[in-house]
Amino acid sequence: MKSLPYLIVGAGITGLSLALSLQEQGKEFLLLEARDQAGGNIRSHSEEGFTYDLGPNTLLVRDPLVAELLHNLSLAGIAANPIARRRFVLNRQNRLVALGPGALLGGKLLSLRARLHLLGEPFRARAHSEESVATFVRRRLGSEVLDWMVDPFVSGVFAGDPERLSLSASLPRLAQMEQEHGSLMLAGLRRKRPAVKSRLLSFPGGMQALPRACAAKLGDKLRCNSAVTAIAPTANGWQVESTTGTWETQKLILCLPTDAIARILPSAAQLLRDRLAAIEYPSVATLALGFHRRHVQHPLDGFGVLIPRRLGISTLGALFSSTLFPNRAPEGQVLLTIFLGGAREPLSGEEALVPQALHDLSPILGIEGEPSFQRVQIWSRAIPQYNLGHAQRINAIDNALRDWPGLSLLGNWRGGVALGDCIRNGITAGQS
Ligand SMILES: Cc1cc2nc3c(=O)[nH]c(=O)nc-3n(C[C@H](O)[C@H](O)[C@H](O)COP(=O)(O)OP(=O)(O)OC[C@H]3O[C@@H](n4cnc5c(N)ncnc54)[C@H](O)[C@@H]3O)c2cc1C
Repeated sequence: MKSLPYLIVGAGITGLSLALSLQEQGKEFLLLEARDQAGGNIRSHSEEGFTYDLGPNTLLVRDPLVAELLHNLSLAGIAANPIARRRFVLNRQNRLVALGPGALLGGKLLSLRARLHLLGEPFRARAHSEESVATFVRRRLGSEVLDWMVDPFVSGVFAGDPERLSLSASLPRLAQMEQEHGSLMLAGLRRKRPAVKSRLLSFPGGMQALPRACAAKLGDKLRCNSAVTAIAPTANGWQVESTTGTWETQKLILCLPTDAIARILPSAAQLLRDRLAAIEYPSVATLALGFHRRHVQHPLDGFGVLIPRRLGISTLGALFSSTLFPNRAPEGQVLLTIFLGGAREPLSGEEALVPQALHDLSPILGIEGEPSFQRVQIWSRAIPQYNLGHAQRINAIDNALRDWPGLSLLGNWRGGVALGDCIRNGITAGQS
């Protein structure tokens, strides 16, 4: 049985970033991954002239650690088409309106009363306790801003419910803006230039180029097809059983979703297992649909469309993928990436998903006829929800972990769900 100072389990972007950080410091480690390739829910495919992502589609680079990782991997990335700054939302007349200051001040999204209400934002009191995203937005900006702007945004990022998502856990920048400046508007006006100019990226061949580059750099420190089946504490650390062998390590770091952690914990770790189970993960379906250009009337001149839940439409939204990045669809065709499900919309059976998306989006985008290409991915546990009480739940997990020295737990269920957050959290854990 081989003994190692560090053993990491799970080669999603969190585990990969942590492993690269240890490699950079010359530390000895091994990274075990159950699947035949690294990347976790980053999944890109190229078929029939379409290149599509069924997990994350974009990486927002605004953290110096993320920029540095890309630099170290010599990955330049492809910047999103500048037109992607235009993000559409559907209004109550079922028309697409581009989000931005114009939407806030013009009459296409908000009533005159709602716009006048916004003028009072700088004068509203700060919160003194944890609030849901919905309570915060209603209090500071009014219920129409919640329904027509923030609600669709929250569906797009978290597939979540703004009435249950904790503001400070899921959108900490907004909470911080209020606490520091007493107003979102004042915070926006006083905003300093960020250390890294933010860029929205993908890569040739899709997002999976990122984990592939990480895996290439890690070489034989990454072992795929090695599912960890059980872990047990020893006198000096942990013993790890995997489908490819048994290991001993002083420091074991599980970079996994909460259910995958719970499955391999020792049976005596019931308290930890219960606390991990309190984090909710709704299901989401991703549909990559290709169409002949002439069968879609909308110019698709933006990032995509988000659909407010108030409209009673099942589909959460769609990315205009072939507008966002080049070479995503064959000549004369377009690619849409569509999302259904989430915390408020239970998913129907797989065979109903494409018809549902066509039913919802055809009138909005002027789609005629059937898709020329279709692929569906169901994520039964898609994105962890940072609901009210999330910070206490994470504290409770950390407290329960004290009974298990040498074991650390990471993953997108803490510290942010975006790829950039996972990269930062992985690298920072490696440095600590
Ligand atoms: C549909 C969807 C769309 C998204 N869109 C975006 C987006 O556009 N931009 C963005 O920034 N973020 C997006 N996200 C979020 C982002 O993709 C995730 O938060 C991030 O990829 C999670 O990475 P992770 O490493 O924490 O976990 P995971 O990706 O879940 O990785 C965990 C890894 O552990 C492995 N594993 C599990 N059990 C074991 C075991 N017993 N032994 C060994 N290995 C094991 C798994 O195979 C997996 O590779 C999206 C997520 C989803 C689901």
